Formats: sequence, C-alpha cells, structure tokens
Amino acid sequence: MKKAQIYSEKKAYLYVQFTKNCMSINTKYIFVTGGVTSSLGKGIIAASLAKLLQARGYTVTIQKLDPYINIDPGTLNPYEHGECYVTDDGAETDLDLGHYERFLNVATSQANNVTTGRIYQAVIDKERKGEFLGKTVQVIPHITDEIKNRIKILGKTGQYQFVITEIGGTVGDIESLPYIEAVRQLKWELGDDCTVIHLTLLPYLATSGELKTKPTQHSVKLLLEYGVQPDVLVCRSEHAISNDIRRKIALFCNVSPDAVIEALDASTIYEVPLLMEKEKLDEIVLKKLNINSPSEVKLDKWKLFLNKFHNPTKTVTIGLVGKYVELKDSYKSIAEAIIHAGAINDCKVNVEWIHSESLTDENVAEKLKGLKGILVAPGFGNRGIEGKISAIKYARENNVPFFGICLGMQCAVIEFARHVLGLKDAHSREMNPATSAPVIDLLEAQKNISHMGGTMRLGSYPCRIVEGTLAHKIYGKTDINERHRHRYEFNNEYTKLYKDAGMVLSGLNPNAELAEIVEIPTHPFFIGVQFHPEYKSTVENPHPLFVSFIKAALG
Ligand code: GLN
Repeated sequence: MKKAQIYSEKKAYLYVQFTKNCMSINTKYIFVTGGVTSSLGKGIIAASLAKLLQARGYTVTIQKLDPYINIDPGTLNPYEHGECYVTDDGAETDLDLGHYERFLNVATSQANNVTTGRIYQAVIDKERKGEFLGKTVQVIPHITDEIKNRIKILGKTGQYQFVITEIGGTVGDIESLPYIEAVRQLKWELGDDCTVIHLTLLPYLATSGELKTKPTQHSVKLLLEYGVQPDVLVCRSEHAISNDIRRKIALFCNVSPDAVIEALDASTIYEVPLLMEKEKLDEIVLKKLNINSPSEVKLDKWKLFLNKFHNPTKTVTIGLVGKYVELKDSYKSIAEAIIHAGAINDCKVNVEWIHSESLTDENVAEKLKGLKGILVAPGFGNRGIEGKISAIKYARENNVPFFGICLGMQCAVIEFARHVLGLKDAHSREMNPATSAPVIDLLEAQKNISHMGGTMRLGSYPCRIVEGTLAHKIYGKTDINERHRHRYEFNNEYTKLYKDAGMVLSGLNPNAELAEIVEIPTHPFFIGVQFHPEYKSTVENPHPLFVSFIKAALG
C-alpha cells in the first residue's frame, strides 16, 4: 500500500472514531453568568468558547437570556439597547446574537434569544388556557420551568452537541434571580452534562499596583448563596494574573486553579478565541463535562482572517452617515461587516461616524471631503433625514461610491426623485404622510397594523437579481436571500419614471414584485438595498456587498 493511501485511510478511521465519539455525547449545557459589573463581554467569551468547540469538530449553538420585560428588543430605541439584530426566521434580537453568527458562521433563530417578557407571556397564555389545572401560578416552579424549557429546546432539536446559554445582566440583579435558580436546578438535574462559567472583573488599583480579587470573591459568594457553584472563572483584567492570584481566587472561590482563566483586553474581539485557546478555556470546559480526548482545534480560516486584519497593505476612509452615531453599538453589524470586508481587501478601513443632523446642502461638501465611500445607515423617523439626503446627493453628483441600507436606500430613492425626476415634494410617507409624491410608501400588508412589536416585514425573503446589473456582478448569482426589517417600500407606481431617468431596480422580490435593490449604472458605485446585508456578514463569509463597496472605495 502506498504511504499516501495508508495516511488517508488512517485519517478516515480517526474521523469515524471522532464522529462516533461526538455522536455519543448527550447535549451538554454550558452557562455563562456575569459578576461584579455589566459590559464585561459575556457575549464575546461565549462566542469564543463556542468557536473553539466548533473548531474541534463539535456542533454548537449559543443562546442569550435577557432578564428585561420587553418581549424583544424590536421596540427599543437603539440608544437603550444598541442594534436590534434580526435572524432568518424574523426574530428581533439582542446584538450578541450577531456576534454568535459572526463567530460561528451558523444562523441563529427565535429560540436563541429569550426575554423575561416572553417567558411571562408564555406562562400567562397557558394560565388563560387552563393548562395549570387550577394550581396557583408562581415564579417557582412555573416561571423557572418555562426558562428551563426554553434552554432545553435547542438541545432537543438534536442539532447541537453543546448549547451555551448566556444569562444577561449581573449576578445579584433582582430581575435575573429566576434565571439563576433555573441554572441551579439544571445543574442538579443534568450533572456532568452541565457546567457553569462565571465571568468577573479583577480591578487594578494603580496606587498600590495590585489586581484585587475581592469583588470576584463576593460575586462568587452571591452565586453560592443562590446555590450555584461556578466551575470555571473567567477573569477580565487589564494586567496578567500571577499564579499566586490564580491560587488565591481558586481557594476562596472553590474552583481548581486551572479553572481560573485570564481574559486580558484584546486588540479586537476576533482575537479572543485565540486568547481563550491559550488559556485552555475549552480544555477545562471539556474536562468538566467529562469529555476525554477531544480532537485538536482547527482555526486556519480564522487565523488567516486575523493575519489579514493585522497586516493591511492599504488604508481607506469611508463615512457612515446615521443618527445614532454617538452610540456605535447602534450600528454594530455594519461596523463588523466593514471590518470583515476590509480584511479580505487587505485594507484597514477608517470609519468616520457622521451625524446626519449635522449635514446640510451647504456644508456637505466640506464635511464629506476626502471620504472614499459613503454609507447611509438604516433608521426610523424624521430626525436627520434631510442630512442623509444631502449626503446622497453629494455622493451621486461627485461619483463617490455610495451604499445605502434600508432607510439609506429609501433616502436614495427620495433624493433621486427630488433632484433628477424633479418631484420637489417627494418623500416617504413615514416622514411626510401628506407628500404629493410618496415614492416610498407603506407596504400593503402594514396598512392595518396597530401593534408595533414584531409586526414589520421581518426576516429572510428571496430576491431575484437582474442579470447584467452591478448587483448581479457583486453576488455572482440571480437568486439570493436577505434579511429585512422595515414597514415602508419603494412605490411601484413610480417604476417607469425611475427607469427612464436611469435608476435601475436591479433586485426584486419574485413573489411580491417589491424593489429590493436600486442602482445607478452611470455612477461608478451607487447601490441601495431595502434589506440588511450586514446581518449576514461573518468572519468566514464577508458579505459581497460590503466587500465590493470597500473595493470601490479603494478605487
Ligand atoms: N423606517 C424605514 C421603514 O420602516 C426603514 C427601516 C430600516 O432602515 N430598518 O421602512
């Protein structure tokens, strides 16, 4: 037998053994709680651990439990909650789900984000149907049982070997108590199939030059009061954690010293899986879950991306025009999609965040001078609209690459109507219900809607691209699916006027004839999309629209 053949047969044998090994494990549940303070990055730690497990060949999904009473973040102002992330199945969710998808390159769904509002709604619905058979309905066991069901739903699909559940908020918050109780019960029920990771902070006192462990000790004590012994502690810190400190934390928090994991600040979130690999977070988690001899971590594609990200050969500056620019989390997925697209173009992209309210026809040339591309962001309501239209007029007239997303696309349609078609009063009915030229109008299906929550055109819809257009060149295919979140739409009564004047409707919904993509072929790069491509850009699959936009900006 030839050497190569032996080698490949051995590989095949090992693969079969490994698959058997993977198949035979029960679904394992990993919980990530947070202590000391919020904003420590539980989502990134959860996503990084998931990435490492995935890189070992396991199937993983991540879920976020949010202890607030809103049914979902769809009705929340971005200043409150950052971006609202939308899944294929149309769930309006926490922005952490965006990180999960960007890291894992696997789609999430409605089941991956659960709020207290949803839990109570489900329990109250059951109560009204008489499903509790006359019992008093209580936080324990009814609310906690519903939480446990929502956690186990993902495991029961049979698709995942690991379900990582991130509990929002900080241990000690009154509102997260039922979640911690649910974790305690599951830990008791599932035994070796369950483990708890607690993320804490080690503050550094500059005056004494010390990392302090007391806040960590206290937050673990609080968890212990609720009956939960964390198995692994991930400690956020600005400085390296010495062995002495690790031992001290381990001793006082009742964990093994190798389960004290250092999480230093990283230059990019995409570095965190590698930092966690170095700290053996995945190894210790597998050990706690009694999984022996896992296969090695394969992160070649990920490392290739990081290598490109850290070693750009070019730089380009683009402008992101929006009205929530003070809180950059409002445009999280767009910012990340730009990073993915930059790396693949070997390019560092500087993003200038421009407040749309600060732009007028008079100052726009000055304010946008030197930008190599202009992206106009999604949004709702009238504030900042005229500034967005000024930015688009400037981009169109000066041949600056332009990319409009959702409201950004709608503004491009309005701008074209006003300045090319001569319809001075053109607007979207969202901003001016009395406009004489409603080039953007309410979708037919939206006309009788009275409830605001979860009633937009949401989630993935098909789009057919017209051959020979810029969009077709970018996607390299005719049929695509993209995610939506809007109530208004291009008004088809104006289609002929636009076509005659040189704006092409290059993507249409094949079932409803809704315009999904517009472009101007005489411009070097002018494209507006009614959907949100940013939600589908991942490290492994940078979105082609962003990649092409950055390429056009590099010009
Ligand atoms: N406000 C617009 C609509 O509802 C655009 C929404 C968006 O940008 N996501 O149609």
